[in-house]
Amino acid sequence: MSRFLSSRFADIEPYTPGEQPQDMQYVKLNTNENPYPPAPGVIRLINEAQTSRLNLYSDPTVEPLIQELARFYKLRPGQIFAGNGSDEVLAFAFLAFCDRERKVCFPEISYGFYKVFARLFNLDDARAIPLKADFSIDPEDYVNCGRNVVIANPNAPTGLSLSVQQIERIVKTNPGYVVIVDEAYVDFGGKSCLELIEKYDNLLIVRTFSKSRSLAGARLGFAMGAEGLIEDLNRMKFSFNPYNINRLTMLAGVEAVKDRTYFEDCLKKIIKTREESALHLMEMGFEVLPSKANFLFARHPALKGEAYYRALKQRGVLVRHFAQPESIANFVRITIGTPEQMEILLQKTREILHQEG
Ligand code: PMP
Repeated sequence: MSRFLSSRFADIEPYTPGEQPQDMQYVKLNTNENPYPPAPGVIRLINEAQTSRLNLYSDPTVEPLIQELARFYKLRPGQIFAGNGSDEVLAFAFLAFCDRERKVCFPEISYGFYKVFARLFNLDDARAIPLKADFSIDPEDYVNCGRNVVIANPNAPTGLSLSVQQIERIVKTNPGYVVIVDEAYVDFGGKSCLELIEKYDNLLIVRTFSKSRSLAGARLGFAMGAEGLIEDLNRMKFSFNPYNINRLTMLAGVEAVKDRTYFEDCLKKIIKTREESALHLMEMGFEVLPSKANFLFARHPALKGEAYYRALKQRGVLVRHFAQPESIANFVRITIGTPEQMEILLQKTREILHQEG
């Protein structure tokens, strides 16, 4: 830290991203990426002609992508905002809607960035609400709570999800506050609350291309909500980084949305692999939370979470382990890979249980 850093940020604890080794030596099941490549159209399009245009600024309105998303989700373009990953969309939402008067709350165990944004934007009285003993979110904690709400649905790292009715009750009973539903993983079997956005002007749905659309490296996310909320997000963007979506990423996004068949095929494969992998892990004695995401959150009575994570890493398989909070320290989060990758995970796990269990 230099002596010039603003004292506001002196004690900030930045988000710790999952390990991203670049040498491909691991079976990488640690950051919830899609194991399948982007849609064929994406790969065809990012060619020499397109890269040669990188001397020109990208389109600050991101219009072709917004149009394509509007068609796909049957919305008006004014109901959609695009960001540099959903991390940026979430950051703009925190910046736009949360302050000392409009405080924020979110589940204590959820996507780690919510806490970091709260700190970065000086929301010192952000409230982290504990999960129930079974690791689910209790929607009653958020009903009439008099705060902005941020909920990941399905939640991470648990994979557990709330119903549309449960989310609707939260949105309906907090009409003076924004309810941000982070649907990063919803395509893998959760129920989206998209149908509610015509009805409520305080619901903002945040999505990403990083998981179900195989574009984590392109950095693309979006939000859907009432036109007023989208205008507010654009106000943030045009006051911060108007060219937030680069040329290649915008083209990749358009092509990925166009190819509905490829998208649905990938989802089907991942869901099938998830269900099969969960069964195999349970057969080995793991407790596996019922996941609607592209990962499993699992623990074994004879294995400490950290030891399992390390033993897998030694054997070339990366998963995610959270040392804190204590209540989840014995779990690991396993991203669903290809059937072949999952077979390696299962085989290494059997070996570890044999030796250490
Ligand atoms: N929300 C949740 C719940 C996530 O797990 C992640 C990915 N780690 C994100 C948002 C951010 O994804 P991205 O910035 O890649 O769109």
